[in-house]
Amino acid sequence: MARVALVTGGTRGIGHAISIALKNAGYRVAASYAGNDAAAQAFQVETGIPVYKFDVSSYEAAEKAIKQVEKDLGPIDVLVNNAGITKDGMFHKMTKEQWDAVIGTNLNGLFNCTRPVWEGMRARKFGRVINISSINGQKGQMGQVNYSASKAGDIGFTKALAQEGARAGITVNAICPGYIGTEMVKAIDPAVLEKSILPQIPVGRLGEPSEIARCVVFLASDDAGFITGSTITANGGQYFA
Ligand code: NDP
Repeated sequence: MARVALVTGGTRGIGHAISIALKNAGYRVAASYAGNDAAAQAFQVETGIPVYKFDVSSYEAAEKAIKQVEKDLGPIDVLVNNAGITKDGMFHKMTKEQWDAVIGTNLNGLFNCTRPVWEGMRARKFGRVINISSINGQKGQMGQVNYSASKAGDIGFTKALAQEGARAGITVNAICPGYIGTEMVKAIDPAVLEKSILPQIPVGRLGEPSEIARCVVFLASDDAGFITGSTITANGGQYFA
């Protein structure tokens, strides 16, 4: 029986590539999203992967939707916590709403989506939790105090939970992408991208979503059973953590 994988934010960007790569690797995949119905519908038609709409920042919504995924596809073996947002601004101008929204999705979302699958993974003695953090959680980034804090929190979550899961056959790892060519990055002013960001990337280009997806497929596999609590840095040489 094929293993079941849930990819949060799996309908667009990096998550889109992860969902497809896991499906191609033989998993039964569910992809979640927040509110972009048009993108989700197009994704479902394109891939045949079922989509589930819920806000990962709400524990109640996540728990309810995850129960539905498990009813439809079976117990979740692989959870990819990929859903994430930015609400950038210099700290002296950052509002409480910008702070709460980013922490709510990027950090609380990990608790909200992992807690409902954790007991099942422990009982079945197998699980893979893969958290998509960020280079900016490793090095910090001006204008992104909220985002950097949330993504650094994802790494702490990963390291602590890995210790709890190890004896139960569950691995918990983080991937820290650098700049990847998704809508999130394309929203950056092209002049800033060209002048300030690309020159900082030694390989001289943005990463591809598929390059992150391949890391996920590896971490999800049986071959990666000895790797837990780790942080895979995939950033074109921009920063060595
Ligand atoms: P996109 O903006 O392209 O896609 C984000 C996805 O997450 C969408 O499917 C979106 O749903 C979903 N989502 C957002 N907020 C929520 C929420 N509250 N509840 C449920 N789903 C939600 O993002 P990327 O592909 O660029 O980023 C994916 C992950 O990778 C994020 O965690 C990001 O921080 C991280 N990352 C990205 C980098 C990059 O260069 N792009 C670099 C480093 C890390 P909907 O379509 O409905 O909006």
